[in-house]
Amino acid sequence: MLIVRSVGPKQTFNFELSTLNGKTPFAVNIELINTGSELMLGRVLNTHQQWIGRQLADLGYVVTHQVSVPDAGSDVQQAVREALSRADLVLATGGLGPTSDDITRDLVAELLGKKLREDAVALANVESFFAIRKRPMPAQTRVQALVPEGAIVLQNRHGTAPGLAIEVNPNPFRNESKASWLILLPGPPRELQPMFSEQVIPLILERFPRAGVFVSRTLKTTGLGESVVQESIAAPLKQLTDAGLEIGYCARTGEVDLRLAARGAGAEKIVLEAEQIVRQLIGRHIFGENDDQLEAVIVRLLMERRETLALAESCTGGYIANRITNVPGASAVLLAGLVTYSNDAKQMFLGVRGETLASHGAVSEPVAREMAEGARQKTGAHFAIAVTGIAGPAGGTPDKPVGTVFIALATDRHTLVLNALNRYDRETFKYVTSQQALELLRRTLLNQI
Ligand code: ATP
Repeated sequence: MLIVRSVGPKQTFNFELSTLNGKTPFAVNIELINTGSELMLGRVLNTHQQWIGRQLADLGYVVTHQVSVPDAGSDVQQAVREALSRADLVLATGGLGPTSDDITRDLVAELLGKKLREDAVALANVESFFAIRKRPMPAQTRVQALVPEGAIVLQNRHGTAPGLAIEVNPNPFRNESKASWLILLPGPPRELQPMFSEQVIPLILERFPRAGVFVSRTLKTTGLGESVVQESIAAPLKQLTDAGLEIGYCARTGEVDLRLAARGAGAEKIVLEAEQIVRQLIGRHIFGENDDQLEAVIVRLLMERRETLALAESCTGGYIANRITNVPGASAVLLAGLVTYSNDAKQMFLGVRGETLASHGAVSEPVAREMAEGARQKTGAHFAIAVTGIAGPAGGTPDKPVGTVFIALATDRHTLVLNALNRYDRETFKYVTSQQALELLRRTLLNQI
């Protein structure tokens, strides 16, 4: 069994995939090329590699080779030529826009010896993009309607540059001229991701049908470290792993994703049984599946119950409110998010008592409690979350070291206060604290406290 393990500062990935022994599970050789000088300069994190890799892995396909290249013509052409010499499917991202550094389309057409023609549907999409926004269409944007002959045009619902899928048949770069597919995708994630899910995946499934069944399920957990998750489930799942269950752990800040997968005739049963065992063992920590996010789960739960939330944040500076308001429909549940950073603000807006602040300090259980109760009372929300803590790097004391945080949740029955020590940089501190606060609310809503 091959064990792939890579460890970063905030993220570890440990995946045991018995089928990765040098070939992809469905024997489709997929290569990924990410173009963009901003990637090489470290100005943009290459999230496409992770996102696309994961989408494909969840379907049972594996990217066998990935490379990032600058926008320079020779680099892009060389990377595409090399990938086409090996792969059944080449995915290339970026460089489809209208500016002078967006040259992927032209370079690919030149490499494949194809002429560019203006596509009427692509042009209409560019025109309507500007018309809807009541903005004049810059002449240069018209180049985005140019497509290499024979290419399938992939609609871009969130931008102007269409994606392009080209069957390279015959493929002059490959032995025996075996055909390959080349798919070009726009750089911005909010354009690429829906295009990939809605148009590229169906195309891959059609052109590269999966041999046999593949079932994969990702359970999202919070509140347990990666090794605790592994220790809790590995032995009880042994029989199923012997029968073909693949287990993957992906740890990121405040979360561990657990991926259960199997292939072949009994795959569905194996994954279902594994999920049941996992839920029995660590079910309280599972907040969602696949791409669920904790804040979206909270908004959904509150909407279902027609209940509301108020937030009183000190050390997280509105971070929890930001996460909640990123979820469509948040206005139905969030009544107010108050950032009460100073003692005066805590008193003025939340009714925290001066004597509580004086005798216990702003970072204390009683203050967190009064903040939550005050927010609930002043807004009339069903639930109120309050956080107060020391993000650091300065401000710690022996009693209350840097990282100390009190998270309170006020309900109509009681006020719960959680005390945690989150010793991280400020941004990670905010994220982890927001995760703990949202998880406290989720567990309360589900009576799992
Ligand atoms: P545009 O029309 O915006 O120019 P494009 O298809 O030409 O789109 P690029 O110019 O290569 O794409 O990238 C546009 C932006 O998309 C980048 O500035 C970056 O913010 C984002 N982006 C590009 N590639 C990646 C990547 N691999 N991972 C994450 N973000 C990316």
